[in-house]
Amino acid sequence: MKLKDKVCIVTGAASGIGNAIAHTYASEGGKVAIADINMDSAQKAADDIKARFGTEAMAIAMDVTSEEQVEAGVQSVVDAWGTVDVLVSNAGIQIVNPIEDFAFADWKKMLAIHLDGAFLTSKACIPHMYKQGSGSIIFMGSVHSKEASKLKSAYVTAKHGLLGLSRVIAKEAGPRGVRTNVICPGFVRTPLVDKQIPEQSKELGIPEEEVISKVMLGQTVDAEFTTVEDIAQVALFFAAFQTNALTGQSLIASHGWFME
Ligand code: NAD
Repeated sequence: MKLKDKVCIVTGAASGIGNAIAHTYASEGGKVAIADINMDSAQKAADDIKARFGTEAMAIAMDVTSEEQVEAGVQSVVDAWGTVDVLVSNAGIQIVNPIEDFAFADWKKMLAIHLDGAFLTSKACIPHMYKQGSGSIIFMGSVHSKEASKLKSAYVTAKHGLLGLSRVIAKEAGPRGVRTNVICPGFVRTPLVDKQIPEQSKELGIPEEEVISKVMLGQTVDAEFTTVEDIAQVALFFAAFQTNALTGQSLIASHGWFME
């Protein structure tokens, strides 16, 4: 039990990667708060976890772009379970468009969910972590934290930005026992990616199979998608790691798409 009784908040955990992380944390004894805008799915995820692992789990209505909702959501976890040990800032969306057609409102929405979300959730959790002198913050970056792709101006900008925010928090919070790291997945078959396949096919003028085989998997070593379970294992490793030896880092899990 690597996370026995640890209080874990995972944003965007009603679906995809966040959901797999929440299940993995619960399987290791963590108490998991599923923070999401989709309350029906968040409640279902919390109920599934309780039934499957017999651990405590709760759903929290939280739009990560709202300071008020983030603060109220984190406070409700602290009221119920006393503190926060692990934050996974994972909520995210994707909007693809060439830059000349990228609506300014979409640009702002992307930066708000990915960057404001990481900032606001960290800001709300850190005082509780400082009080106990320990904590682990994990940002969901992407290979796009390191590499660019066509049509993804806002996403690539936001995901690069998370590396900077993580490194600053690592320096500020390290002396007080709080670590920050970034996970950088390659393509993972979730609703976020499924939505992009027809969109990219249209924008790039190529068949959907080619979006998968060339754009998404063309540079992997084995033409395979990364899985939600792969990423959940990395998230477990960062959450359970005990010392500041591992802070301010980013780890790429992408079937060799990007190597550094
Ligand atoms: P997903 O669409 O399956 O899940 C995203 C979740 O975020 C949903 O439950 C959604 O309701 C929630 N969400 C959206 N906006 C929100 C908001 N404002 N406040 C709170 N919750 C919100 O997507 P996913 O593929 O699991 O993506 C999760 C994270 O992983 C994202 O940050 C994404 O950028 C990142 N990522 C995904 C991939 C991939 O290939 N799927 C690769 C690299 C990084």
